[in-house]
Amino acid sequence: MAEIVIKNVRKEFGDFVAVKESSFTIEDGEFFMLLGPSGCGKTTTLRMIAGLELPTSGEIYLDGEEISQRPPSERDIAFVFQMFALYPHMNVRRNLSYPLVSQGMPRRQVKAKVEEVAAILGITDILNRPVGGLSGGDRQRVALGRAIVRDPKAFMMDEPLGALDAEFREHMAEELRALHDRMGATTVYVTHDQLEAMQMGDKIVVMNNAVVEQFGTPQEIYDKPASMFVADFIGSPSMNFLRFEGVVAEAAQSVNLAGQAIGVPRLRQGASGHLVFGVRPEHVTLSDTGGYRGEVLASEYLGTTQIITLDTPNGDLKARIDSTQTAKVGEKVGLSFQAPKVTLFDEATGKALRSELNHEVLAHG
Ligand code: ATP
Repeated sequence: MAEIVIKNVRKEFGDFVAVKESSFTIEDGEFFMLLGPSGCGKTTTLRMIAGLELPTSGEIYLDGEEISQRPPSERDIAFVFQMFALYPHMNVRRNLSYPLVSQGMPRRQVKAKVEEVAAILGITDILNRPVGGLSGGDRQRVALGRAIVRDPKAFMMDEPLGALDAEFREHMAEELRALHDRMGATTVYVTHDQLEAMQMGDKIVVMNNAVVEQFGTPQEIYDKPASMFVADFIGSPSMNFLRFEGVVAEAAQSVNLAGQAIGVPRLRQGASGHLVFGVRPEHVTLSDTGGYRGEVLASEYLGTTQIITLDTPNGDLKARIDSTQTAKVGEKVGLSFQAPKVTLFDEATGKALRSELNHEVLAHG
């Protein structure tokens, strides 16, 4: 069991606030992603969970027990620093045995444990090989093995695949996720790569500027973004933002864009002023008819789909459509939007308006 609860955690370095009051729960056995741009506070958050930094205020609980101010050695959490940090002069077996021998575990037990972990990682055949001559993938497996042999309650990983080239990275990401599924150990993983977070994570915390913007499953984060930041950061191409000024009433089911009533999920909150109509490219349809129109500026062929860029009365828009459909540059086309997928934002706060679509997510986020 390893449930980790972060409650109102804040971290200051002198006058600088690296993490503002953050709260979220990592459930037992989850593969949990801390996602955000460089400098947003995700590594600091991870280090506070591991005990390498202490929070300025707030609490961290591991299985219900408060650990906020405990040293790392009393937390039973393994921090996988850098996949390649191994002892190069030792063979694989000794690299794996070392953490156990230094804990004083009897030799026979060490041997059994190392062999069990080697089997899990598929590295039994290289146990007697020196680490120096191993491939990158095998070194990474050994480094992981070093963390696994200790049977920690949870694993912390800070951009473990960051240094790898794209192809190998994808392979190792799949392997890490499969390993996690076999072992079921709670894992907290820092990344700035939204695709990696979406592909690997059970849950994601999206951070920006020291603040948790949203916390949820990859699908919740993608379908029901809580803020313009999240909507823009997740997805490629990212969500379109059509800006308009107006008033929308609580319970409204449409907004007025350039004189056309455009359907939206029923609102649960009214708003006025500078508003933003957010729609993902795959939820835009092109047709010959329709009152809301745009001019095709460019098209980008992607195989089964194409991305069309259009000029609309409310700014540029990207649409992902079937590549069999034709859209000529300069052509004016009708545009329609899948109303249940639209998110409205208040531009001043950057936050999503509460609606039928996202009510429960915003309520718990
Ligand atoms: P990156 O991916 O670039 O590491 P991050 O989201 O992990 O980004 P953090 O490493 O948590 O960001 O850093 C958040 C902010 O806190 C950064 O502006 C960083 O410079 C600052 N910071 C981190 N550690 C310290 C420290 N020990 N002293 C002062 N400032 C720090």
